[in-house]
Amino acid sequence: MRYDLHSHSHYSDGMLSPAELIAHAHAAGVEALALTDHDVTDGLPEARAAANQVGMRLIAGAEISVTWSGQTLHVVALGIDPDNAALQAGLARLRESRNQRAQEMAQRLARHGMDVLDEVHLRVRGPILSRTHFAHALVARGHARDLRDAFRRYLRRGSPGYAPCTWAAPEEAIAWIRAAGGLAVLAHPARYKLTSGKLLRLLDEFKAAGGHAIEVVSGSHSRDDALRFASLARKFDLFASCGSDFHGPGTWAGLGALPPLPPDCAPLWPQLGITGSA
Ligand code: AMP
Ligand code: MN
Ligand code: MN
Ligand code: MN
Repeated sequence: MRYDLHSHSHYSDGMLSPAELIAHAHAAGVEALALTDHDVTDGLPEARAAANQVGMRLIAGAEISVTWSGQTLHVVALGIDPDNAALQAGLARLRESRNQRAQEMAQRLARHGMDVLDEVHLRVRGPILSRTHFAHALVARGHARDLRDAFRRYLRRGSPGYAPCTWAAPEEAIAWIRAAGGLAVLAHPARYKLTSGKLLRLLDEFKAAGGHAIEVVSGSHSRDDALRFASLARKFDLFASCGSDFHGPGTWAGLGALPPLPPDCAPLWPQLGITGSA
């Protein structure tokens, strides 16, 4: 079975509708896909209907924004009941923070002569505003060459359009996921660039708070990253997940184009009730 347990639709910062995403995944040979939009589950019914039509397995998910030790991390929720009240109350709070942050970002960019909020709103299809929407708007207005350039110049921490935001605490996000019957996965851990001491502390706390797995194979991981996180997953008795983090055609990660998990990992999918080998 070919799994991809991390992807986005236009309900968050992806470029495709859930139905288009399912069609792309199906064409790419993916047999089990998780839709994991940032802080929102509104795309799941449309994805579910499209997946049923082509006989693809859809895993209900979300990617929850978390603040840990002053840094933003992402926790992917898999196999959740999207109707769970605790989960939805938590996500609603994060969307509120997000949308306040977006106002702040728009003001900061405007002070630097970049009035992009109208352009941002043209691109928003769901209930959240993401830095990715700002990046697309900055490119469209000619302030940046491409998304990467927009993040580097204006949107990353320390640059003119960046506004800080306090997200959920890791233990809160994990508690919402568990309340909704899901599994909590630390997303793309290599992206956080943590010192080894901090990384060990994070994994220790993540495990103690009830986290289930880490993304060992990710669209943003090198093979060396995958080997390193496979060994850390074993050390902390965490399952191993794999996901492209697909946002759209022509972006940095392809759907389902993932190498296998390194040997000796305990794959997460049997815990989701998915059968078959990787
Ligand atoms: P936000 O959650 O609104 O702060 O936006 C974070 C999102 O921005 C991530 O989920 C990525 O999709 C995207 N992102 C972050 N850094 C970059 C980058 N350097 N190039 C392109 N996209 C990025
Ligand atoms: Mn994103
Ligand atoms: Mn992420
Ligand atoms: Mn993601």
